[in-house]
Order: sequence, then C-alpha cells, then structure tokens
Amino acid sequence: MRPKITWPEGKRFAFTIFDDADKDRFSNTKPVYDFLAEQGFRTTKSCWLEEGDPDHPLGGVCCEDLDYLKWLLELQEAGFEMGWHNARHSSSQREVTDRCLRRFKLYFGHSPKTMSNHFTNQENLYWGADRLDHVFRLLYRLGNFRAAMRDSYEGHREGSPYFWGDLCFKQIDYCRNFIFPGMNTLKGCPGMPYHDNQRPFVKWWYASSEGNNVEDFVRTIREEEQDRLEAEGGACIMYSHLAKDFYADGRLHPRFESLMKRLASKGGWFVPVGVLLDFLRKTESGGQELGWLDRQKLQLAWLRMKLTRGSS
Ligand SMILES: [Zn+2]
Repeated sequence: MRPKITWPEGKRFAFTIFDDADKDRFSNTKPVYDFLAEQGFRTTKSCWLEEGDPDHPLGGVCCEDLDYLKWLLELQEAGFEMGWHNARHSSSQREVTDRCLRRFKLYFGHSPKTMSNHFTNQENLYWGADRLDHVFRLLYRLGNFRAAMRDSYEGHREGSPYFWGDLCFKQIDYCRNFIFPGMNTLKGCPGMPYHDNQRPFVKWWYASSEGNNVEDFVRTIREEEQDRLEAEGGACIMYSHLAKDFYADGRLHPRFESLMKRLASKGGWFVPVGVLLDFLRKTESGGQELGWLDRQKLQLAWLRMKLTRGSS
C-alpha cells in the first residue's frame, strides 16, 4: 500500500472519470456534462475524430459533426480534458490513426494526454490476452472471454498495418488497463501510473474503477464506498460510458444524480484524469517501473475478477 497522499488544496481525496465515447449523441451526453460542470467536477471526455463503420453497434457521433466539435471545445475551455479512445469507433490502420492524431492536435491544440482502448478495435495496444503474461494469458484464453469477439490486437505489433505503438509512445502519456471493483482505484493499483517494460509502447499505465454503465457506476460510488474513499484519502478514476443511460427520458438517472451531489458536497479534488496522474507521478510515489511481482499481483487480481464477475 502506498503512503497516504497529501492532496492539493487541502483536499482529502481525489475523484475523476474517463468517459469512453461509445454511443455519444448530443441529446444523451450534454445534459450529463452540464450536471457535472454545475457540481464542480472536471473530468475526461474522449471523442472520435472520424466516422467509422456505419453498421458498428457501438458507434456514436464524431468530430466531423461541427456542433459536437464546438461543444467539445467549450468543454475543454471549461476545464474538462479531451481524451483519446482510438481514431474511430471501428478499426483503423496506421495511416488513419496518424491522421486522426494530427486532427486531434489541430482541433484541441495539443496531443491527447490520456487514452483508453475501444473494446473491439484491432489497433488496440496490448489488449485482450496481451494484457496478461504467460500462464495468465493461457487462463484468459481457456476462460474464452467474449468468444465471439476479436482477440487479436495489433497496435503494438511492428509490421502490422494496425501498428501505431511508436505514435502512442511519442504523443500520449497515459493508457488505461485494468478495471477493479472498489471506488478507491489506488487500492487495486497502488503504483499507478506505472511503466511496464513488457509493454513498452505505453509510457504510463493507469487503472480504473468499474462504471461501465449507469448501474455499475452507481454501485461503485454508493454511499459507503464514498465514505471509505474519503477516510482512506484515496483516488478514484471511474471507467465509464456516460452516454449509456445516465440521462434518459428527459432526466438524469436519479440515483446517479443524488450520489454525485453527495460526492460533490465532500469537496474532493475533482480534476481530469491527466491532471490527477501527473500529480501522482510527479509529486507522489507513482511513475515507477512495475516490478515482476507487482505485475503478477495486478494481473492475478484482475483475472480473478474477470473470472468471477466478467468485468472489463
Ligand atoms: Zn469504447
């Protein structure tokens, strides 16, 4: 366990969200961000740069929609971070990823600092079984997770048309890997952000807490978990898709709304993922090479959760 952290501004804990862009529409996402902003949260929102396969089930709006882009720029201006969730919602070869990274820089004035892989994209980095070493990889495959889904990810494989690991290393600081059930993400991954020499195209890895959809999200941030996070002086990075029913039928999900208001009243350090990880890496004890034993512990904990709960 890492030593207790002295948070900036006298805060007692930190909380943020990395929001994957899946199923984004103006109508289902903007009201959630209006609410977050009003409550004082400044989190990380990812976006897609170009249209992908129109038949892909996880599609959503992209920056080619100028109203959407304008809104993202307003969010950035208001203190939210723009993150990378691949170039598009379907697989992209190197030239597309390269072009979209340039577009991102053109639109937002800088390269993305943080990213997460988008589920089924072939250019994902160290994804699927490649998240794990040797025997764990075998167990993962035996478990036959998402048997119908792709399990060949090539973003880190030099020579593949999907390779972009060198671009990632040069331009992006932080990539998400393991997801854990508790709200205090640092409890599941005390060393984050960390470097993993077995996965060298990612500069630094971070973990997140389970919040895939609104039901998972409210379960993870329930009252006793909030109180524990505060008492432990921990940090929470929620993994989420804020377009998945956080706002539906003309209103915010009531439990989400009340829990986030409760959390806001605690006055934690509510900064984007990149700001939080920079702080942990530069000021606290993060930013180390992950040792062999710690890597096995991290992978085993995640694999166990995957086997029992089927989480991301
Ligand atoms: Zn996604």
